[in-house]
Amino acid sequence: MSSVFVALGSNLDNPLAQANQALQQLQQLPHTHVTQISPFYRSKPLGPQNQNDYLNAVIELTTTLSPLELLDHLQSIEKSQGRIRKSQRWGARTLDLDILLYDNLIIDNERLTIPHYDMQNREFVLYPLFDIAPNLILPDQTPLYDLIAKIPLKGMVLWENK
Ligand code: ATP
Ligand code: MG
Ligand code: MG
Repeated sequence: MSSVFVALGSNLDNPLAQANQALQQLQQLPHTHVTQISPFYRSKPLGPQNQNDYLNAVIELTTTLSPLELLDHLQSIEKSQGRIRKSQRWGARTLDLDILLYDNLIIDNERLTIPHYDMQNREFVLYPLFDIAPNLILPDQTPLYDLIAKIPLKGMVLWENK
């Protein structure tokens, strides 16, 4: 069994419902268990600012799916929830599921970069990850705690505390 952390983001069509539906779908993946779910956060968009706030969370899975098999499943969940890929990067979306970490693997190919290439800069990834894995050490031996200490919350709040 491998331990995987997945980042979830949504800012369209009722993000809370999108997140809950995605969690249900993750719980139904073959050869996979959802072991932890972070609190849900509300963050400001990356890139274009003329879009809604994002709901963000991090989920821990244990799985025997390979990284690429898992990516295929995550992309079909995104698609099933109406994700439409637009040319503009970081635009609004119903659902984004990114693989942050897969055990201590380092992967860099056309379809997958693990650890996620920008996770160390994203408060909406680091804080929920810290909530469920405070002692985590990244594959390059950096403690997650050291990354958190460098990144401010930038106005992020719990989803409930609008
Ligand atoms: P960002 O990657 O900056 O968070 P995004 O999540 O909106 O942006 P997507 O449109 O969801 O980007 O994905 C673009 C491509 O990224 C996908 O087709 C996928 O093959 C690739 N990709 C590379 N590494 C990963 C990863 N770790 N998790 C998910 N997708 C990845
Ligand atoms: Mg993303
Ligand atoms: Mg993505």
